[in-house]
Amino acid sequence: MARYTGSACKLCRRENVKLFLKGERCYTPKCSFEKRAYAPGDHGKTGSSRGGGERVSDYSRQLRAKQRVRRVYGVLERQFSRVYGIAEKTPGITGLNLLQLLETRLDNVVYRLGFADNRASARQMVNHGHFMVNGIHVDIPSMILKPGDQIAIREVSKKRKMFQDFADYAEKRNCALWLDRDVKALSGRVLRLPERSEIDGDITEQLIVEYYSR
Ligand code: SF4
Repeated sequence: MARYTGSACKLCRRENVKLFLKGERCYTPKCSFEKRAYAPGDHGKTGSSRGGGERVSDYSRQLRAKQRVRRVYGVLERQFSRVYGIAEKTPGITGLNLLQLLETRLDNVVYRLGFADNRASARQMVNHGHFMVNGIHVDIPSMILKPGDQIAIREVSKKRKMFQDFADYAEKRNCALWLDRDVKALSGRVLRLPERSEIDGDITEQLIVEYYSR
């Protein structure tokens, strides 16, 4: 499956905001955004590549809002547009539907359960086949989960070295309130869809709806 393989930190600098894509490192002085808070590239410092100092068009604001969310969840353009299509067809508020669909992706749920400290690591763990959903082996990070779905680390994976102290590692990490986690069993369950207030990040989903309504 295609994925972005460039520098995660460049994405933060491009969006002019910390997207917290690298887990622990994001909270240390090693964070690239702390050291170089300007856009990457030759014109980054001048601000012109971010529209700094210039009047920002509606289209530019809508595009940046969409790109920011896409990058936070690590979703490529085509897949993001497909998820938006599902959100549009789902009853309710399209912007909230979109965020709930992104939040309930399997890789994001693994991250929210505290089994990984960033979404890229969670995606890799899913890709490497360490998880089961409702008792079935799944290695598709984009799989959308529903309330009631059970997630567990495979028994065969638990015997691997990386999972030996995994319960201690996960214990130190927060678990989202819309999920239920059994750290000792290395499993979890989706209790319900997240509410808007439970979805963090500097996200303006209305601008994304406007972007796709052009
Ligand atoms: Fe962004 Fe984290 Fe890199 Fe800082 S360390 S620039 S927050 S991904």
